[in-house]
Amino acid sequence: MAQAFDLVVLGAGPAGYVAAIRAAQLGMRVLCVDAGLGKDGKPSLGGTCLNVGCIPSKALLESSEHFHRARAELKDHGITTGEVRMDVAAMLARKDQVVHGLAAGISVLFAKNKVTSIAGTARLQAGMRVEVTPLAGGSAETFEARHILIATGSLPRDIDAVPIDGKVVVDSTGALDFPAVPERLGVIGAGVIGLELGSVWHRLGSQVVLLEAMDTFLPGADEQIADAAMKEMSRQGLDIRLGARVLAAKIGHDSVEVTYENHDGKHVIEFSRLVVAVGRKPNTQALNVNEVGLLLDERGNVHVDDLCRTNLPNIFAVGDVVRGPMLAHKASEEGVMVVERIAGQTTRVNYDTVPWIIYTSPEIAWVGKTERQLRSAARDYKIGVFPLSANGRARAMGQTMGLTKILADQHSDRILGVHIMAPMASEMIAEAVLAMELGASTEDVQRTIHAHPSLAETTHEAALAADGRMLNFHG
Ligand code: NAD
Repeated sequence: MAQAFDLVVLGAGPAGYVAAIRAAQLGMRVLCVDAGLGKDGKPSLGGTCLNVGCIPSKALLESSEHFHRARAELKDHGITTGEVRMDVAAMLARKDQVVHGLAAGISVLFAKNKVTSIAGTARLQAGMRVEVTPLAGGSAETFEARHILIATGSLPRDIDAVPIDGKVVVDSTGALDFPAVPERLGVIGAGVIGLELGSVWHRLGSQVVLLEAMDTFLPGADEQIADAAMKEMSRQGLDIRLGARVLAAKIGHDSVEVTYENHDGKHVIEFSRLVVAVGRKPNTQALNVNEVGLLLDERGNVHVDDLCRTNLPNIFAVGDVVRGPMLAHKASEEGVMVVERIAGQTTRVNYDTVPWIIYTSPEIAWVGKTERQLRSAARDYKIGVFPLSANGRARAMGQTMGLTKILADQHSDRILGVHIMAPMASEMIAEAVLAMELGASTEDVQRTIHAHPSLAETTHEAALAADGRMLNFHG
């Protein structure tokens, strides 16, 4: 007889592994199946985020930032060094170690929480059964499930015009492992991945050109922040070409020739390496959707409602494989919601307060509405903006590019959106998320004591600015 579980989770990324642990905490018997392999070819938990996404890219951002500072900024602090050199192999080894440590940590958490974990490919079968083919080989095994959670994530999207050979032309995974700093790096797509990985290699010495199909830079961000970011990144030396439609890419000997078209005609440009970062697509490949009758939406995502229920009873889906932003923290919260509701709780995800972060330098982070969204919804709103250049901590750090901006309802004073471009904006945004989660007004933030000197004071000052009460700037 097939072994039975209360919950079978497909995928051990931030959606699946978190849900599996929470379900085990709630007393469920849980099986989590994951097909991910690490760089060493061995099974590795953690999904895209941990193995080839958020974590390794942040490790490289950190290394490249240190390198850049050592070369360009230490002298401002009176520090003299010898020639600063980059050992790319050592940087990559450190990155791999960070990934490996965290992935191993998930195995420990699974063991401690008594989650059964199998390295294998899962396939849905009729009658609440899941067939698992082990990565290690051997015959497939079938399990019975009272509930199933699909958390199979996403895969890089490619474009027909650009063949990926894994050496000269790579996707975001390949761009984490260039063995040497490419002299001329092309990036197709100036979205989150393009900007983050473009920044890494730029700081390490590559000349970077980003070819972006759209005419608007960072359309999801607030316009004022997107404009400021475009100026700052261009000043840093990133060559961002908007309205650039890539027509062809010809891989030569150790280089690639890219043809693109923009408003002033066709252009050909040669790169030593090219990264394709044009978005990601839901990973539904191995699910057997047709046979079990699982409904997908028009974009190929598993169709779900607000509570992440699919069209099939007791089968749920969360994270990148469903609608909404492809963000690890959104995925985790959805996973927790699903298992808590299975356990009889009334948990919901507040999709209005999902923070966004782009890990460039300075970082960009936001939560809630942009001005564009408020204008199109015809909301009466007020604005408070405070520049980093007037903040003591930012000046002491020597990092004064950026601003903090608060948008609030003109009548009720309730905060509707917070937009930050600043060093560690990823940390600063947490205050704004909490404020919005608690339905705070700008007055609540105005009357909250912010430690001095700190970057968080820019949020305080932006809240004051929304009522014309700014103290440390007169603009
Ligand atoms: P994205 O959607 O952020 O950006 C892709 C960009 O490529 C878009 O600007 C798009 O206009 C452009 N593009 C598409 N086709 C093109 C073409 N043919 N030629 C030129 N440009 C083209 O996607 P991404 O950067 O690939 O990231 C994928 C997903 O991963 C996103 O959903 C993102 O939210 C997520 N992610 C998040 C983070 C983070 O939160 N910091 C980091 C990395 C990835």
